[in-house]
Amino acid sequence: MLQGLYNNCHLCPRSCGANRNAGEKGFCGMTDRFVAARAALHMWEEPCISGRNGSGTVFFSGCTLGCVYCQNRNIALGLAGKEIPKERLVEIFFELADQGANNINLVTADHFIPGVAEAIKEAKKEGFSLPFLLNTGSYIHADTLKLLDGLVDIYLPDLKYIDPKTAGSFSHAPDYPEIAKAAIDEMVRQLRSRCGGQRIETVFNGQGIMQRGIIIRHLLLPGRVLEAKLIVKYLFEKYGDEVYLSLMNQYTPPADPAERIPKLARKVTEAEYRSLIGYAAELGVKNGFMQEGETADESFIPEFDGEGV
Ligand code: SF4
Repeated sequence: MLQGLYNNCHLCPRSCGANRNAGEKGFCGMTDRFVAARAALHMWEEPCISGRNGSGTVFFSGCTLGCVYCQNRNIALGLAGKEIPKERLVEIFFELADQGANNINLVTADHFIPGVAEAIKEAKKEGFSLPFLLNTGSYIHADTLKLLDGLVDIYLPDLKYIDPKTAGSFSHAPDYPEIAKAAIDEMVRQLRSRCGGQRIETVFNGQGIMQRGIIIRHLLLPGRVLEAKLIVKYLFEKYGDEVYLSLMNQYTPPADPAERIPKLARKVTEAEYRSLIGYAAELGVKNGFMQEGETADESFIPEFDGEGV
C-alpha cells in the first residue's frame, strides 16, 4: 500500500519525516487525508488543455513550496479546502467527466501523490478513460513521481527558477533548480517510455485537445527576464521540440499593499514579456504558448469556495 509512504514523509525535498498517517503535518501543512478547495471546469489553461469544454480541475490544498508571491495563497496555506476520502476523489473524477471535462487536472497534488496514484488506479479500474494531468510546481522528488508512471498522461510542470539565489529568496528553496530539473527529466522519461523510449510523440485528439505530452510553464516575474531567458535556453537545448513551453505573463501582485514584496510589487511590463517571447522565437522554439492581452488580473484566479468538492 502506497499509504505507508506517509508514515515518515520524505516525498519532497523538505524531508520533514512527519508521520502523516498519524495526523502530523509537515511543511506542506497536510496529513494523509486529501484536502481540496475546488473541483470544477477550468477555462484558463492552455487552449489544448481547456478547449471549449474546460479542464476538469481539482485544486488541492497545501503546498511543498511557499512562494512569497503565491497566486493561490488561501489553498497553499491550507486555509481553504475540505477533507475528502479517496472514494470521494474518484467520484469527483466521474462527476467532472459527466460535466464534459476534457481531462482531469490535478493541481498542486504533489504532497498527495501516493493517494492520487491509488485514486487514479481505482478510477481506471472502474472504466475511467479521460487523460490525467499533473499540474505541479515541480518541487518534488523524481522518485516520488515514479509512483505516477503510466498513470499520468499529461504533465504540466513549472520551471520557476534556474538560479538557486532567486529560488531561495522567493520560494525558500535554494535547491529548487536541481530538484525541478530532475523532476521534469523524470516526467519526460515516463512519457518517452510510453512512446517506445526515444522521443515523446505528443498526441492530440480531433478537437486539438492534448491526450499525451508535456507543457513546461514559466511564469515571468517582474525584473526577472534574464533568468526567464536562461530557463527557456536550458529547456530548448535539452528537449528541443519534444516538449511544449508555455511562457506566462499573468503574475499578479497581492491586492493588499501590506502583502507585497518590494521587488515583486508590480505586474510584468509589455516590454519585458515581448523581450522573452522574442528571445524564444530567435532560439527556434516553435512548440510554445504565449499569453495575449490583459491576463494579469485577479479574475483569472478562481474562487476557492469548495465548489464541486
Ligand atoms: S510532502 Fe509535506 S510532509 Fe512530506 S516531506 Fe514534503 S513538505 Fe514534508
